[in-house]
Amino acid sequence: MPEGRVIRLSEDGEEMEGNTVESLLQLQEIDALIVDRQARLAALRAESEQLVAELEELEKKTVVLNGRLEEVEGELRHAERTVQAGRETLKRLQARAQEVHNMREHTAARAEVDAARQNLEAGEDELLDAMQDQETARSALSELEGDIASRQQEYGERLEDLDAERRRLDEEIAIELDRRSNRALRIDERARVMYDMVRRGRADSPLAPLVEGVCGHCYTAIPLQTQQVIRAGRVLVVCETCGVILHAVD
Ligand SMILES: [Zn+2]
Repeated sequence: MPEGRVIRLSEDGEEMEGNTVESLLQLQEIDALIVDRQARLAALRAESEQLVAELEELEKKTVVLNGRLEEVEGELRHAERTVQAGRETLKRLQARAQEVHNMREHTAARAEVDAARQNLEAGEDELLDAMQDQETARSALSELEGDIASRQQEYGERLEDLDAERRRLDEEIAIELDRRSNRALRIDERARVMYDMVRRGRADSPLAPLVEGVCGHCYTAIPLQTQQVIRAGRVLVVCETCGVILHAVD
């Protein structure tokens, strides 16, 4: 069975005041409160960042869709010019076909007219496709813009709430830190140093109660003699196994 490590608070074994453990427990309570508020603050910060990132992502999509719309409109203008030119060519060839002098010229002119008509039809198909693409890009963009507008509204309100909550927590933490340093000043310095040392690098509480002869944190059995020392409450005893400061409970 490991011995509880009795921490003499000074070289000459000077004992701490009787209410030191009580004060350390109060300090621990304040520290737990501060840790809790800081964790909430971190969660709020993460939520804000998430919302901002989502809005930025939507803005990026808008840029991509605008680029796509411009591209499609370029194709549309090109298709319009092609169709316009195709109509003029067809008209010119049809007029020339009226002025043929023999069968050979007639056949050649007809072949030219047919080819021009086919070109025009292909151009008109492309124009229809381009118009369809433009419509698709426009409606995707307007849907996205509607989505952005409603999310900006919704997220904007949430972000304001988060900001207000963060400011409130910041203030609360500042008050608790202030309360902590005032409280800490009134605690036996050696006990405070010990408390801070135990607390460092520990996510859970630095103090644990002695419960039915075992450490309330790791459940290691504490020797009877050490239990008596803990109950006397005149020195700090640290659990050999898990390192918490052990204290008696009524
Ligand atoms: Zn322990």
